[in-house]
Amino acid sequence: MKQLVIATFNKHKLRELIPLCRRLGIKPLSLEAFPHVKPPREDGKTFEENAMKKARFIARETGLPSLADDSGICVDALGGAPGVDSARYAGSSRDDRANNLKLLGKLEGVPAAKRSAYYYCAIALATPQKPIGTVRGKVRGRILREFRGKGGFGYDVLFYYPPFSKTFAEISLRKKNQVSHRSRALKRAIKLLKKVAEESC
Ligand code: IMP
Repeated sequence: MKQLVIATFNKHKLRELIPLCRRLGIKPLSLEAFPHVKPPREDGKTFEENAMKKARFIARETGLPSLADDSGICVDALGGAPGVDSARYAGSSRDDRANNLKLLGKLEGVPAAKRSAYYYCAIALATPQKPIGTVRGKVRGRILREFRGKGGFGYDVLFYYPPFSKTFAEISLRKKNQVSHRSRALKRAIKLLKKVAEESC
């Protein structure tokens, strides 16, 4: 395959996506190579809609095939919130700590058995000419009552993953990439990536 632009300004997502892409034999390019490109507004109602909007926009702006991720955390006791609003849950500044504190506040008094949640990731692929498709990945866990761990980003300090008996902030990137919503979505994106590769040859 030629180059594939990873349509994210989030350095944490990039750190997770780059090794996953390389493992699939894809040459990822970050947006640092395109300083003139500004992110589009994420105003879709679904993760899929937002991911495709980003992928199409970046593919058109850069003239190269693009892969975009839109993701977030969905808490069952909150009817799936914060969902697509995960990044800006506590306001527009994408402040992870404020988002986590707001989530803890919303779940005050909710017992452990009812604190189930899942991370969701939609990955979209597009060429400068057209959308290619979207795929998704999910991982289930539970929201703790206090922060645990120093790694990861976003809600990882609160997201407890029972099979590892740890939060996502307490495990290595390699371990997170074995089970995460993002890696699961990316594995499903292989077919789409092959399609892009064929079209860009
Ligand atoms: P997006 O840029 O609109 O896709 O924002 C995704 C937001 O969802 C992030 O800012 C985080 O708050 C949250 N999120 C998505 N994936 C993860 C993850 O792997 N760990 C922790 N938080 C995540």
